[in-house]
Amino acid sequence: MKVPFLDVLAAYRELQPGLDKAYRQVMESGRYILGEEVEAFESEFADFCGAKHCIGVGNGLEALHLILRALEIGDGDEVIVPGNTYIATWLAVSYAGATPVPIEPDPGTCNLDPVRFQEAITGKTRAVIPVHLYGQPADMDTILEVARKRNLAVLEDAAQAQGALYRGRRTGGLGDAAGFSFYPGKNLGAFGDAGAVVINNDEIADKVRMLRNYGTRTKYENEVKGFNSRLDPLQAAFLRVRLSHLDEWNQRRRAVAERYLDQLADIPELILPQVPEWAKPVWHLFVVRHPERGKLRRYLEQAGIGTLIHYPIPPHLSGAYSDLRSRIGELPVTERIADTVLSLPIGPHLDGEMVESVIDALGKFAKSPGAA
Ligand SMILES: *Cc1c(COP(=O)(O)O)cnc(C)c1O
Repeated sequence: MKVPFLDVLAAYRELQPGLDKAYRQVMESGRYILGEEVEAFESEFADFCGAKHCIGVGNGLEALHLILRALEIGDGDEVIVPGNTYIATWLAVSYAGATPVPIEPDPGTCNLDPVRFQEAITGKTRAVIPVHLYGQPADMDTILEVARKRNLAVLEDAAQAQGALYRGRRTGGLGDAAGFSFYPGKNLGAFGDAGAVVINNDEIADKVRMLRNYGTRTKYENEVKGFNSRLDPLQAAFLRVRLSHLDEWNQRRRAVAERYLDQLADIPELILPQVPEWAKPVWHLFVVRHPERGKLRRYLEQAGIGTLIHYPIPPHLSGAYSDLRSRIGELPVTERIADTVLSLPIGPHLDGEMVESVIDALGKFAKSPGAA
């Protein structure tokens, strides 16, 4: 049996009537930039997150970038970021002209470590960006407590965590502002690029809204050198259809994760994700660790099981940040994670048989002579 890592086409198949209708509605509206669909999605997604405002933007990277701009964080400022994240978190800081300062994660959850965050604060620090990595919320109350004492902004990178709960509260409304990505493979995925800023502060919300649209509140009155990063109405219409299924689809992911957690617990050397009692993740990814990651991956591939690595090269060792002159070994926890992680197939369209076949293959790998 073939088990693809993720079947993005399945989302279209399941929701086709609604999506096709949404497409026709936008095409016939004649409104192809901003307008009603975008506003309707913004209001629905703000409600979903339990936050006051949502501002639809071009993608997740732009969401984070525009928040930093609106907060006037830039030249000469430092922003604390996880060492182990997708490079977009760092790039948003670089785009704004500030310096990303990486810290090591909690090795258990792979999420931001509040103690290391506190230690990394300098006189130049303006903000911190906890990432709800793999769909699991970071320890926001502890992070906020540290940040408040030093007057730092807390921006959630919630790109992987639409719908995740932290102590019963949704991600997106937990800090000072949040950036979401609706890249097609995300839990709430568009059918192209899309993103959003979610925020409670009226003034900053207003500023983000202006910045995403050429720095204008009124057409042709360009108050500042703004950007063009507007959520596309077609994507907004598609996202509205997908949003109405998000909780249910996240629940399907949870069912897969529970099965994995239960059935893979006894496999030697395999490290399973750790979930703190206050977290209700949405399992954007199910990431295991194994000292023989390469061998395991090839074994699964031969069994027809698709896996990916999130992420093989941490930003500090990437070409993009060669100017930092980081050396291998500089962030040992982060680098160890990059060398050992493997993402198993997970998604709302993985059926029971597929899950069993992944579990089965992992069990066989553990018993095979070449395993360790
Ligand atoms: C996907 C992702 C982003 C960026 O999203 P885009 O929409 O692709 O720009 C940012 N941060 C994290 C953690 C992500 O997973």
